[in-house]
Amino acid sequence: MKLCIDVITIFPEMIRSYASESILGRAQAQGLLSLGIHDLRDGAHDARRSVDDTPFGGGPGMVLTPGPIASVIRSANGGAGVARPLIALTPSGKQFTQAHAKALADSGSFSLLCGRYEGFDQRVLDDDVDEEFSIGDFVLAGGELAGLVIIEAAARLIPGVLGNEESPLTESFAEGLLEYPQYTKPQEFSGASVPPVLLSGDHGRIASWRLAKALERTLERRPDLIEARGGLSAAEMALLQRLDELEGAPKSD
Ligand code: SAM
Repeated sequence: MKLCIDVITIFPEMIRSYASESILGRAQAQGLLSLGIHDLRDGAHDARRSVDDTPFGGGPGMVLTPGPIASVIRSANGGAGVARPLIALTPSGKQFTQAHAKALADSGSFSLLCGRYEGFDQRVLDDDVDEEFSIGDFVLAGGELAGLVIIEAAARLIPGVLGNEESPLTESFAEGLLEYPQYTKPQEFSGASVPPVLLSGDHGRIASWRLAKALERTLERRPDLIEARGGLSAAEMALLQRLDELEGAPKSD
């Protein structure tokens, strides 16, 4: 399965440069990811390649004008237009989540529209954009970082992109829970040791401990996620009560 993403930006090199490294670079080299990066200024028709103007009604800053955006949306890909759905990055958009990343990875293709300055003329959002996503309750200088966040979150879910196909299934948010704590070598570090259960070789017990830790951590840090799953089941509550017992060294018979 291949994921095709069109990106519209006034800083094509920002996208190209980040996406040429690591997982995104490998995914492209393997033919699993295709990025079409479109310079918004190619849609401008004046000598200065302007894409912004002052806001009607006054106020600070500049606003991206609708003409160049509409032009690139329609003329990209040899006149076929950018892939749909077209997603605009805006701080006032819907909060982007792992579930959206999964849906986009499965969709096969989509496009991202990166804002700058004070953002977009509303008519572009109303007429040409299918969805708006925000990556959090803060304001960035532009949509390129937000777009890269979405590209990476979706691309790493394409089968074959990550070395270990299991990891996206057990990570934070995959099951509506945060991930359990991870440990690696050395066994002792700065006076702290790895929980004995992880050295037990008992895979069933390790899986139970990990699920209990994931439940505990999610309850402490993100009770909203537990609420969204409809609370804890009786089995999950029972597992949480056994956490200390599960964590220790297994009793020898
Ligand atoms: N005036 C806009 C507002 O108050 O909502 C902020 C514009 S921001 C300085 C410029 C661009 O950065 C936006 O058009 C958007 O593309 C991007 N951006 C900033 N924060 C973002 C966020 N949290 N999520 C997604 N995109 C963001």
